[in-house]
Amino acid sequence: MHTYTNAFVVTVKESPNDAELVSHQLMIRAGLIKKMAAGVYTILPMGHRVFQKMIQIIRDEMNAIGSAECTLPVTIPADLWKKSGRWDKYGRELLRFVDRHDRPFCLGPTHEEVITDVVSAYVTSYKQLPMTLYQIHTKFRDEIRPRFGVMRSREFIMKDAYSFHDSAESLDATYAAMQQAYHRIFERCGLTVVAAQADSGAIGGNESVEFLVVAACGEDSVLVNTEAGFVANSEACPTLDPGIVHHVSVPPYAMIHTPNCPRITDICAYRGIQPNVCLKSILIMVNDAPIMLCLPGDRDINEAKIQRLVGAFRWATSAELTHYLGCSPGYVGPLNTEIPVWLDYGLKTQPHYTCGANQDDHHVVNVSPDRDIPHGQWADLKMAIAGDPCPSDPSVTVSALRGIEVGHVFKLGTTYSQAMDATFTNATGTRMPFIMGCYGIGVGRTVAACIEQCHDDNGLCWPAALAPFHVVILNLCPKNTDLDPIIQRLVAAIESWGYDVIVDNRPDSPGVKFNDADLLGFPYQIIVGRKTLDSGHIERKCRKTGETIGVSVTQMDVLKSYLN
Ligand code: ATP
Ligand code: MG
Repeated sequence: MHTYTNAFVVTVKESPNDAELVSHQLMIRAGLIKKMAAGVYTILPMGHRVFQKMIQIIRDEMNAIGSAECTLPVTIPADLWKKSGRWDKYGRELLRFVDRHDRPFCLGPTHEEVITDVVSAYVTSYKQLPMTLYQIHTKFRDEIRPRFGVMRSREFIMKDAYSFHDSAESLDATYAAMQQAYHRIFERCGLTVVAAQADSGAIGGNESVEFLVVAACGEDSVLVNTEAGFVANSEACPTLDPGIVHHVSVPPYAMIHTPNCPRITDICAYRGIQPNVCLKSILIMVNDAPIMLCLPGDRDINEAKIQRLVGAFRWATSAELTHYLGCSPGYVGPLNTEIPVWLDYGLKTQPHYTCGANQDDHHVVNVSPDRDIPHGQWADLKMAIAGDPCPSDPSVTVSALRGIEVGHVFKLGTTYSQAMDATFTNATGTRMPFIMGCYGIGVGRTVAACIEQCHDDNGLCWPAALAPFHVVILNLCPKNTDLDPIIQRLVAAIESWGYDVIVDNRPDSPGVKFNDADLLGFPYQIIVGRKTLDSGHIERKCRKTGETIGVSVTQMDVLKSYLN
């Protein structure tokens, strides 16, 4: 029999000061997790049961689409990561160390290299393809800001799957099947998710979709238009070319004196204008050569778009600004310079703009980009925001949602197989690099996201699929042994109906038991106490609705229909 004593139920009154999110607070208070170091947690037995239920749902759905489970090592020799080129590129999230022989290793933050190495050792022919392997295992990422408990930790459990193909069509099929499996997984966990077009980031590749749980506390911003069927992470959302708006004649541009106006807000205040009629210029360096980016003064640069446009880049230093343009930061502009200029599409919407003059304390007014910056090339440079025209139907606009990224699928193509020389022989006898996909779900983050969606003022409110136990029996008179046989019969009956059940057998007061049962969020509570001895009745309470129903112990079978 599972009891509060043997199942290690350890609720705590206070949540730690660093717990900003409800999910983090409740996971600590309900005794699901305990912090060991920044971003490193013990998953306590109650938390373990939740994680295992989540893992089993993922496992079922991965197996159902013909994916084979394995366990890859967490400790990875540096050589493998050098082969892919990521040893140098990955940065400080990668925890590197040396063994006693001074051989370099890392703790795996993701496993494309390992799986490519494993598969290429065994798969040599197209006849063995397609195939997908997955694991549900520990990852380590030395996050710059671990926070929100297991939502953004350094050591965490991920389901990561990798597929191998001989054609783009075959990858398309697995990529689609995987997304359907993801929808089923999140639905079975009782979660509302959106699937958004995403940026592929450090993993590489060329197409990706993120699964996000809609939540106000989410770190990701998603832009949507439901009628147009459009959902994209704002980082990956295009902004459209509105086409040049031809205006009534704009006077020629002219330089004006603008003392102490290095920021957009300064020039707006000085001239009594709005930021959207200012032209913001940013100097970047690509392979040590300068490039200028111009966008409307009220918009932000999207670094991922710039990276796609020009490749790896860095911001120019103030010394470089002075060297190339002869001014200080704040007075940079695209006129009268040989530097290549990229103009954001947004600069087609106003008749004229005010921009920096490449001379301190001076700006240029009446700049019509189309007319005055003929060497500028047009592109999409800015971060999309709510109110922008929808990329799939420009007659409507997108609105913004916050979301927690719980899953991510990528088409990797041949990025890793080419770098690592992982090939197979195709039908015509030619050696080809594997075409690959990869697919992740964060187990802890999904559990935490579920709590963000399923809780109330009294604590957790688990969906049936993830509850550590489906039913809790609160024994209000634990010292009275007359209740023991009734409780034993109850437990046997409930288990025979296929539900798991735990008994609060502690010597605490009823108040403490009610509070803890609510805090732990088991879907159903069964109250057994003096009333049971007096009148032969037990009470069943539904955690979510608070609804209670009395049942006679002589008709225990009736209870079954009240537990789902
Ligand atoms: P983020 O942008 O939030 O850092 P990511 O894009 O780095 O996420 P992926 O590399 O796609 O994440 O990893 C797959 C999944 O692993 C994510 O969807 C998320 O559920 C989970 N995950 C990633 N980083 C963490 C972390 N630090 N803590 C817990 N789960 C994580
Ligand atoms: Mg990350």
